[in-house]
Amino acid sequence: MQAPKKKVLLKIIILGDTGVGKTSLMNRFVNQKFTATYKATIGADFLTKEVTVNGQRVTMQIWDTAGQERFQSLGVAFYRGADACVLVYDVNQPKSFDDLESWSQELIVQACPQSHETFPFVCLGNKVDKAGPNRAVPKKKAKTWCDSKSMPHFETSAKEATNVDEAFRKVAEIALLQE
Ligand code: GDP
Ligand code: MG
Repeated sequence: MQAPKKKVLLKIIILGDTGVGKTSLMNRFVNQKFTATYKATIGADFLTKEVTVNGQRVTMQIWDTAGQERFQSLGVAFYRGADACVLVYDVNQPKSFDDLESWSQELIVQACPQSHETFPFVCLGNKVDKAGPNRAVPKKKAKTWCDSKSMPHFETSAKEATNVDEAFRKVAEIALLQE
């Protein structure tokens, strides 16, 4: 008889500038919901969702910020033990893309992963539903940056549920490779 695979808990944290859609993406993924009204906080440190990746049951514990990201004052507990990080920018806001470099560095400094060379990041360009053909952050530009860091890249819409499941599944997959 095959031994049951061990249960896995992954701590995932979402980083990016205020307003890019971090809370909305998490809410879409975990609750299949989207609300257009702005809510700075959801009042919880994290939400959990179970997924199956390659036959393995995985509990994703997704940590979101409650607006403190604008002061870069997320506590040690927020970063501690992170298994993967979702970096989010808004495809209509170039500054939010430019800021990803410092968000990724912040993660490395605060979470002190065993190997920062291979720490799993996934990058999401959100709000594609609002983007015209001449979007502010071209897909090619984002891809080039992500490729240079071996980071999977997705363009998403929390509003229209575009690529959200795919992106979070990828997060679980690459986090599991590190186990
Ligand atoms: P956060 O500060 O990064 O957590 O961003 P929120 O999730 O609070 O979203 C900020 C605003 O952008 C809210 O008004 C959301 O309804 C809106 N929003 C989030 N994701 C999307 C999206 O994919 N498309 C559109 N059109 N609006 C979005
Ligand atoms: Mg938020």
